[in-house]
Amino acid sequence: MADIYVFIGPPGAGKGTVGEMFCEKTKAVHVSTGDILRQEMAAGTDLGNKVKGIIAAGGLVSDDIVAEMVENRLKKDDIVANGCLLDGFPRTVPQAEALKGILQRTNHRMAAVVLIEADNEMLITRLTSRRMCSNKACGAIFNIIAMPPKKEGICDRCGAKLYQRTDDTREAALNRLDVYAKQTAPLIDFYEAEGNLVRTTSTNDTPEVNFARLMDALKK
Ligand code: ADP
Ligand code: ZN
Repeated sequence: MADIYVFIGPPGAGKGTVGEMFCEKTKAVHVSTGDILRQEMAAGTDLGNKVKGIIAAGGLVSDDIVAEMVENRLKKDDIVANGCLLDGFPRTVPQAEALKGILQRTNHRMAAVVLIEADNEMLITRLTSRRMCSNKACGAIFNIIAMPPKKEGICDRCGAKLYQRTDDTREAALNRLDVYAKQTAPLIDFYEAEGNLVRTTSTNDTPEVNFARLMDALKK
């Protein structure tokens, strides 16, 4: 039985960034449904082709598709051994209900649900100025305002080209924030009622400061 952590928060709150730090420290496996879907799109699989229009518009992929993806992932040996961080799942109340069944079937336990809250204006700025490394093995994330690469358009860590996610345009970002408020924010009440919600805030401080605040909230 392994520990499963869930990070919930609006797009741009830094779930991916502090999530990586969390996994490095705890050895939990980082499972980002957004990353899995982007890999499927890049590889041009049937699933990838099916979801790319929805993702580019900032909408949500169907609950059944992501729930199946997560269940398959949670059965793998690395997670059975080290547990995992779910980043970006669940995102709707039906997904949270589905997760309960998934945890029972895969024999894992929910260790905590971390809610990362942040100011809306900061989120819009962060999302539209975010740039990603195109080298999947690297996965570095930059921000042309807060954390610009030394050389424009090039990853400091590995030298690969940077790109902007199709859903980081202003229009798609605004839609994602709206989808979050309508479909994901209700999860806060859901997990509050279950009694395992831990709250933290993401600010304009460095990722290290935000991470320390999160670990403090988790008392880890
Ligand atoms: P962010 O948290 O920055 O919005 P993610 O990388 O988690 O981005 O997800 C990108 C997109 O992938 C989402 O906007 C959505 O279209 C799709 N997606 C990811 N996870 C889920 C999920 N659990 N349910 C439905 N759609 C999802
Ligand atoms: Zn890189």
